[in-house]
Amino acid sequence: MAQRLTVSDGVSKRTSRVRVAVRLRPYMSRQDEKDEGPCVRGLDSQNLEIINWRNATETVKYHFDVFHGEQTTQQEVFLSSVKPILPHILNGQNASVFAYGPTGAGKTHTMLGTAEQPGVIPRAVREVFNLVSAKDEDEGWDYSIGMSYLEIYNEKVLDLLSPNAQDLPIRENKDKNILIPGLTHTVVSSFSDFDKHFIPATLNRTTASTKLNQRSSRSHAILLIKV
Ligand code: ADP
Ligand code: MG
Repeated sequence: MAQRLTVSDGVSKRTSRVRVAVRLRPYMSRQDEKDEGPCVRGLDSQNLEIINWRNATETVKYHFDVFHGEQTTQQEVFLSSVKPILPHILNGQNASVFAYGPTGAGKTHTMLGTAEQPGVIPRAVREVFNLVSAKDEDEGWDYSIGMSYLEIYNEKVLDLLSPNAQDLPIRENKDKNILIPGLTHTVVSSFSDFDKHFIPATLNRTTASTKLNQRSSRSHAILLIKV
């Protein structure tokens, strides 16, 4: 499903490359396990099939840019699906990574992870600092890295770095860029400085549990890193 998307805004044409990776998570409890076995089966590094145990002729195959099986580690997800896009940031391009899926699918685990098994966000931010300091040493760059962190919950934008700022407006400029005027932008000098802001800000997220998952927040969080 690697495809070129052309966004035409009437003036200029922008081309972006979208890659879709699927990650299968392991069963969380024995209760989930069915006698038949899992209904999703990885075929190779790009293909999976979903089995209908009641009617095997209804088995459907899907193709993706990457299929990560349930044994895939946080490091492997980062190395294959995230690290390669980060150098583009130093060329002035935008790079975005997002996790999509139903509650309990493993989005928070993949993006945030835990202290023992950090996810995409801490690994990517660490890598951005590494890339930039290499440029700094080799080519004498002057750089600054800053962050913004927001949450969309009930169609309202909350500034997680400044939790008193609720319901911020979303604007679009004439180049069709989405802007949030008034969103806090904090300059961070190192990975540990980033963590110092990021961890408490994450705790500012709205947490409303759902029947599926006690800790689900039912909100969308967006972390912006600007170099
Ligand atoms: P989501 O954010 O999509 O609602 P979570 O990331 O909270 O889902 O995952 C639900 C549960 O499954 C959590 O307890 C999480 O730790 C666990 N989990 C998710 N993906 C994995 C994985 N790849 N390996 C081990 N545990 C996982
Ligand atoms: Mg979650």
